[in-house]
Amino acid sequence: MKWISCFFLVCIAASCIDTSAGSDAHEGIIVSKKNRSQDCSKAFKDSIKKLLEINLEERDSILLVNNLVDVQSINSAIYVDLKYATMDNFMKIILYEKMDRAFLQRDIAERLSNCQDYLTKLDPTLHLLVYDAARPESVQWKMWNALDSIPAWERGKFISNPTHKSLHNFGAAVDLTICNSKGKALDMGAGFDDIREIAYPSLEARFLASGELTKLQVENRNLLRQVMRHQKFRNIPTEWWHFNACSRAEASLKYKSVKEEF
Ligand SMILES: [Zn+2]
Repeated sequence: MKWISCFFLVCIAASCIDTSAGSDAHEGIIVSKKNRSQDCSKAFKDSIKKLLEINLEERDSILLVNNLVDVQSINSAIYVDLKYATMDNFMKIILYEKMDRAFLQRDIAERLSNCQDYLTKLDPTLHLLVYDAARPESVQWKMWNALDSIPAWERGKFISNPTHKSLHNFGAAVDLTICNSKGKALDMGAGFDDIREIAYPSLEARFLASGELTKLQVENRNLLRQVMRHQKFRNIPTEWWHFNACSRAEASLKYKSVKEEF
């Protein structure tokens, strides 16, 4: 679809290139060329508009079928920095070719919105900053296959095996941190997607005792957990940034898994 769209646009652009040779001394020719250029520019803009409309229609229908919503449409105080739509992630490649927003199941997005309201009451200068939310199965496979140098049994430590599906595939898990009003994330002592043990919530006491985590870093993680637990999101032992909205069994019953990007 993407290639067809690109081909379509290239064809329109090509048709707008003037290939006539020689001088344009005659005013009529100049006017005619000017008009043609304006017509082409309009046609080009209209084509882009139409393609965007088609893609938005496709997106809307997938959102409707999966009951997903853009979290920022529910609460604009929530910030989003979708790491897999950029190269700033543990794979250093762009994994989302289409997705540029954080989507969650509607009821879960509303819970996250309540978390933001709770955080605002605690400190009006702070915001939730979402790194990832609904993640299509196709992208889960892309991640899984990109790490094929690691044996499958060990790979599961870094990325959920796509065969079993991740709660992210249902739009029922969220990766996030807390940031200030300028979008600067609080210091959590380890970055997003850091696979080292220092990112494990289960080992914070040990790293605090050894001085590898500071009291402030642990307090920041505690604040994030406090805010998320307010709406019954559950953290996992190995990633400070990951929160599940429900169990996998519950998600399988209640929600549809997202197959492809939209
Ligand atoms: Zn996650």
